[in-house]
Amino acid sequence: MESKINRLREKLEASINRYQLLYETSPDMYVSVNTDGSIKDCNQTLVEKSGYRKEDIIGKSIFMLYHPDSLERAQDAFQSFLQQGKVVNANLELRRANGSKIPVLLNVEAIKDEKGAILYSNSCWRDVSKIQRLEEELKEKNKELAEKVCQLEAKNKELEQFAYVTSHDLQEPLTTIMGLTQLFEKEYCDQLDDEASKYLRFISQASSRMRELVIALLEYSQLGNKREFHLIDCNEIVKNMLDDLSAIIASTNTTFEIGALPQVKGNATELRLLFQNLISNAIKFRHKRKRPHIKISSLLEDGYWKISIQDNGIGIAPDHQQKIFVIFRRLHAASDYEGTGIGLAHCQKIVEVHKGKIWVESQEGYGSTFHISLPQLIDEG
Ligand code: ADP
Repeated sequence: MESKINRLREKLEASINRYQLLYETSPDMYVSVNTDGSIKDCNQTLVEKSGYRKEDIIGKSIFMLYHPDSLERAQDAFQSFLQQGKVVNANLELRRANGSKIPVLLNVEAIKDEKGAILYSNSCWRDVSKIQRLEEELKEKNKELAEKVCQLEAKNKELEQFAYVTSHDLQEPLTTIMGLTQLFEKEYCDQLDDEASKYLRFISQASSRMRELVIALLEYSQLGNKREFHLIDCNEIVKNMLDDLSAIIASTNTTFEIGALPQVKGNATELRLLFQNLISNAIKFRHKRKRPHIKISSLLEDGYWKISIQDNGIGIAPDHQQKIFVIFRRLHAASDYEGTGIGLAHCQKIVEVHKGKIWVESQEGYGSTFHISLPQLIDEG
């Protein structure tokens, strides 16, 4: 019997020692406070963090450990401990012996006698200075990021303005060159030999092409300036687009497979342009030995509609798949495939102002799939 009691006593002592070790070395500061506000006990962590000696704390008022900035809130927390027997997540500040602050999160549980009267508190202060520092750093970083976005937006506006002014102003001398070339050809045609006529034709062709580019640049810089957003049915847009492109569709024998498309919030003119560029590219860059087939489908993914336009055309080599979205970047000579190289830059800008994305998946020689993602309507979710 006695050996059993001894074994139990040893177990109890071991358990008390373990508890004591955990209590003293916990990363949190523990303090027990009597109902008159005097400190009954505290752990080693509190001693180390506060810089006080234990004997300087025990028996003193708990409020000596609070920073004057949060004294009032500490008194309120103590009142709620007395009245409700607990405090949950109170944000307060302690004052170290050297006067500096420790931001803490206070949680209190009351220890009661058998009749339910409060004897003292078990209070825990969690040092949240690291978390607060990280939060402040994060806030600072977010502020920097927001400033950078503002600067980028301003730079973008500036560039758009620049593109607008230059493309607008370039039109006049270009019109003069084209007009004078025509006049020159008319007036001197009988005096020009074959070589001179050929050069003149080149000048005329180059100026027409330059005019196309200048007009495209002007349109690009103007894109989205007077933007109104409405509810747009993509099925309608695609249907109208196929009517508009009926001549080229018939002459190229292109077939279509069109799934159900979503309604989105957007600008009708811009979304029309988006589909027009993608569908006409899918026809234009067709494979010489295959009948063009275009599949248009949509899928809802994480709050965004992914609309895919898939063709079985010439495809795009992996190295070029990013570059094609850059303005005026083309992979072919104008004599092979006509165009200005602005279509996909347009598409990218349109999709971005609609808070979406555009990207391509392609295999050279087999076809390309252009994907656009556009936000799902809020009331669809
Ligand atoms: P453009 O059609 O006037 O050349 P875009 O900006 O629309 O200009 O396209 C840029 C380039 O991307 C094209 O010159 C072409 O090389 C490539 N491209 C675009 N769409 C396709 C497609 N569906 N299949 C293969 N290549 C494509």
